[in-house]
Amino acid sequence: MIRFENVTKRYPNGALAVEGLSFEVSEGELVTLVGPSGCGKTTTLKMVNRLVEPTSGSIFVDGRDISTVEPVDLRLRIGYVIQQAGLFPHRTVLDNTATVPHLLGWPKAKRRERARELLDLVGLDPSVFGGRYPDQLSGGQRQRVGVARALAADPPVLLMDEPFGAVDPVVRERLQTEFLRLHSTLGKTVLFVTHDIEEAVRLGGRMAVFGEGRVEQLDSPAQILGAP
Ligand code: ADP
Ligand code: ADP
Repeated sequence: MIRFENVTKRYPNGALAVEGLSFEVSEGELVTLVGPSGCGKTTTLKMVNRLVEPTSGSIFVDGRDISTVEPVDLRLRIGYVIQQAGLFPHRTVLDNTATVPHLLGWPKAKRRERARELLDLVGLDPSVFGGRYPDQLSGGQRQRVGVARALAADPPVLLMDEPFGAVDPVVRERLQTEFLRLHSTLGKTVLFVTHDIEEAVRLGGRMAVFGEGRVEQLDSPAQILGAP
């Protein structure tokens, strides 16, 4: 579903973020990108929706070389969740959730219905939370809205960049568990960046262990960490 072929990214300031990256993620698979900060995880993620362009090499999503796909088309087909959820502060939870349907021109009634359905899916009662603004939510609730928004147009691929990194450990664990349940129902292909090895183990997919701009290992947590 997602394939990196010998991908290198050097930023204009000369920083070599990733070098010779080659790996593949199957349809419906959840792969965590783990490793210390500065080793290229976010850069790798952002190249999948063309927020960052590789210096060399190719990336394929669903068999298509993404350099031939308009960035906006790609982003409408790929859900993206970041650490502070990145919600629009002056839009309600319902409107935030319906961002992509709005951009796709869905009629208002249809996008509202979809937004309510998604809020339900992530455990937020739309009649309670739909009309609120992001600053009227807890950090965990904001991240739920971020996930709902990313799922709005039913994208086959989800990119998650430390989505639960900014919430307290108890809430984080609950969000991880709920996200796993969601993943097993929806079957999206997920790239999940975290610097927290425990989170990667809990999520349980293959781990791509980054070191200095390279994937050093790509295997199950049990293989990498040693089976208990
Ligand atoms: P990680 O997500 O693992 O923390 P990043 O992909 O953010 O790593 O960064 C990898 C390397 O690329 C780091 O050395 C970082 O300083 C550098 N880098 C990231 N973004 C930029 C940028 N926009 N311009 C220049 N260098 C960058
Ligand atoms: P319309 O019914 O004309 O589409 P709305 O009454 O739904 O507009 O919204 C008013 C304004 O807010 C519009 O100009 C639209 O651009 C913007 N807007 C509405 N919903 C969303 C959304 N989910 N995401 C982003 N912008 C939105």
